[in-house]
Amino acid sequence: MRARQLQLKPLCEACEKRGLIRSARVADHIEPHRDNEAKFWNGALQSLCTPCHSGDKQAFEKTGRMPTRIGPDGWPIE
Ligand SMILES: [Zn+2]
Repeated sequence: MRARQLQLKPLCEACEKRGLIRSARVADHIEPHRDNEAKFWNGALQSLCTPCHSGDKQAFEKTGRMPTRIGPDGWPIE
């Protein structure tokens, strides 16, 4: 399932929305599946690179760059 998702969308979708091109490493559930099996297997996936998957805060700590302001939709404001 992960391999299929990454084949379908090889680029990190979160980075793409910010105008960055990064290859994705993980298939992430857009909606948290919790313990819902149907959601786990059929839920929508998005391709993410490792920094986006482990959270922008961690990425910020690694790169030392100031974080961008985050809009109400959860995406950075340019
Ligand atoms: Zn990314």
